Amino acid sequence: MHPIDRLFPVSVGRGPRGELTLAGQDVAALAQNWGTPLYLYDGATLRQEVQTLQTLLKTQYPGVWEITYAAKAYFALNFARKLHEIGLGVDVVSLGELYNARQAGFQGERVHLHGNNKSEDELMAALKFGAHAIVVDSLEELAFLESITAREQIQAAIWLRITPGVNVATHPSIQTGHAASKFGFLMEDGQAAEGIHRARASRWLKLIGLHAHLGSQLFDAEPYREAASRLTELAEGVDYIPAEISLGGGWGVPYTLDDAENPLEPWVSAAAGAVRTEFERRNWPLPKLVLEPGRRIAARAGVAVYTVGTSKTASDGSTIVALDGGMADNPRPALYQSRYTAVRVDRPDAEPVRETTLVGKYCESGDQLIRKIDMPELKRGDRVAIPVSGAYQISMSSNYNLAQRPAVLWLDEGRVEVLQAREKPGEMRYWSEASPAE
Ligand SMILES: *Cc1c(COP(=O)(O)O)cnc(C)c1O
Repeated sequence: MHPIDRLFPVSVGRGPRGELTLAGQDVAALAQNWGTPLYLYDGATLRQEVQTLQTLLKTQYPGVWEITYAAKAYFALNFARKLHEIGLGVDVVSLGELYNARQAGFQGERVHLHGNNKSEDELMAALKFGAHAIVVDSLEELAFLESITAREQIQAAIWLRITPGVNVATHPSIQTGHAASKFGFLMEDGQAAEGIHRARASRWLKLIGLHAHLGSQLFDAEPYREAASRLTELAEGVDYIPAEISLGGGWGVPYTLDDAENPLEPWVSAAAGAVRTEFERRNWPLPKLVLEPGRRIAARAGVAVYTVGTSKTASDGSTIVALDGGMADNPRPALYQSRYTAVRVDRPDAEPVRETTLVGKYCESGDQLIRKIDMPELKRGDRVAIPVSGAYQISMSSNYNLAQRPAVLWLDEGRVEVLQAREKPGEMRYWSEASPAE
């Protein structure tokens, strides 16, 4: 096995001339047939990650548990169908994600509605769908949801999203459990306790659990222990025994060979162990434990493939090579200074010969996919593959410069299925007539 292969899907291989293959398919041929930029998802990687997680929960948590996928990582309808087949639940945050969940076959009881500012339409849609829980984010939202349920004369099962005040080491834009976060009920000023009181006093709201999500791309499991103990302290302080506890998602993935491998075991054992310890110590019945991975399930399964266009020498003598995609299909380097690695598709194991910056084609200097990595020679027409491209890329993609979103394929057991067709210029309807909201 080549060192780089740990970043690629588990089905990665080499063809007879050393060229890159995925799930037995020649990546260059796929790029030729479907055009670039092209995103590829590997079914075997997705299943393996979910199965590992399921096995760990089975062996480490004696109570009931559930894995719900965070749809925002990537949730095209055909991809949602795969996740449903694999047996996951799902966290949604919008009418669009709710719609795809329903179309993909998810039952309402496998769905949670998250978000810090849910609209009445979103709340109503989740209620009608029979969502397992609406995750209420603030005292104001609690009152808003109660007014809707009272008006409709229906009960709503809810969790409260608690901000446990736990700091984590990741990019500031994806830290969410610290006291200054825009998400959740703060603990230290009494909002969280007040929220539990009000929810339990409500005739229409049924409080079934507490939730915390600390942030994304985490490599340290200790904060999950802290979160579990803060949530149980909070509950104990108001004489409430939660039937369900969610510790969110956030477990990180390596994007480059400099990143440590980040096995799932420490995460699951911290979350399961801490919840178990805290509940058993208080003689409380074990709650249903929910984990909400997004990135961890989708990221490594995805690979982005581009074609090289122009090359030039920068003022510092380094080489700039432009690809035919960039920040429109992957805004992460621009948003979070994310690091990636890349290989040449025809010779993924070629020795690097020069420091190269891979830039995109969009009209902004920040459109750089990978700054200064050592690459083999690249010339017009060469294909480049970037691994770990399955999460928060296509789902955050845009039509900047009226770019068309790329085609996305699913590779599994020798088959190729289309998850998303490449957009056509006429489909970006910036010129359509304005219509008032329905
Ligand atoms: C984004 C999010 C997740 C998933 O985070 P990942 O880092 O992708 O695992 C889980 N739960 C909530 C509430 C989220 O907002």
